[in-house]
Amino acid sequence: MFTERFANLTPYTPGEQPRDMKYVKLNTNENPYPPSPGITDFLKSMDIEQLRLYPDPSSLRLRKAIAGHYGVDAENVFTGNGSDEVLSFCYYAFFESSRGQLLFPEHTYSFYPVYAEYHGIDYFKVPLNRDFSINLEAFLEKETTTGVIFPNPNAPTGMGIGLREIDSFLSKFPKNRVVVIDEAYVDFGADSAVPLIRKYRNLLIVQTFSKSRSLAGARLGYAIGDGALIRALNTVKDSFNSYPVDVITQELGILAIKDTAHFEKTITAITAVRNEVSTALQNLGWEVLPSKSNFVFTRNDKVSGKKVYEWLKAEGILVRHFNHPGIEDFIRVTIGRKHDMKAFLDLIADYIQTDT
Ligand code: PMP
Repeated sequence: MFTERFANLTPYTPGEQPRDMKYVKLNTNENPYPPSPGITDFLKSMDIEQLRLYPDPSSLRLRKAIAGHYGVDAENVFTGNGSDEVLSFCYYAFFESSRGQLLFPEHTYSFYPVYAEYHGIDYFKVPLNRDFSINLEAFLEKETTTGVIFPNPNAPTGMGIGLREIDSFLSKFPKNRVVVIDEAYVDFGADSAVPLIRKYRNLLIVQTFSKSRSLAGARLGYAIGDGALIRALNTVKDSFNSYPVDVITQELGILAIKDTAHFEKTITAITAVRNEVSTALQNLGWEVLPSKSNFVFTRNDKVSGKKVYEWLKAEGILVRHFNHPGIEDFIRVTIGRKHDMKAFLDLIADYIQTDT
């Protein structure tokens, strides 16, 4: 009944999404603050008639708003149903095994190998440096490659790469191969490479409204790059689903991208709490990788990552643990509101005392 390629699929496992909110959810890097207040007003007064009609298939007003925010043209912007969908379209348009392997970091967003399998693309995981940072030089060592994808900051480490290093990497990378930088978490303190898209026509930046703009539930992602790359993504989209971004989400995106005051307020709050949590964890003897994102990746050589994850869950706090060799000692903790982080830190302090 099923195809062979279906039988071979190993899907991505998203973080748990319990519907009974008995947990403090620090496991899927959602924003603890609500989206722009303008969104509440819009939803309360929305003209329901709009839902009768299909949305604008090209999301033009939304693309113009995003383009305005970054100082690029609407032709440089593509929008999709979450950045996951945008990433999948990138794989379809830019990567194929006959031109070499797709390269991405060894420890990174676990959807990258899943999309590679889905699209039938060979891939190679480039080891991280000893300090868990991405080793861009090592990406240049492969003689042939179909392209590169990496997040900046990386997930789940949270570590960022500076713009100068990215520029230097792009200057040495083949111009006929696409480099996708997944900037899902860039707004929390890393350097965006959007300013480099004019210099490198093979550079595509992918971003999302899910994290820094508190719209994970609306499913809205986008890509910024040279017009030729954007046209390619449109061709893939129009061969798959004409309307990936619905009528409501197009409006929410416009309101969210224009509300820079709310954006800055929430980013400032989250990064301040992140820095406090990092210091508090270090004071409790935990190693914390330097985070440029809205989560911290932390371990303690006296306790097992899996055990502390399970214990926190039993106590009502959900964090993320990856059972991947090399990072299995770590837990990834999303930065929530101050009181939730205090509850987390109190439990961590207790855990060390009871476990050691
Ligand atoms: N890239 C990275 C690195 C992520 O962690 C996530 C969130 N899981 C995404 C992309 C996808 O985000 P979304 O589809 O919500 O835009």
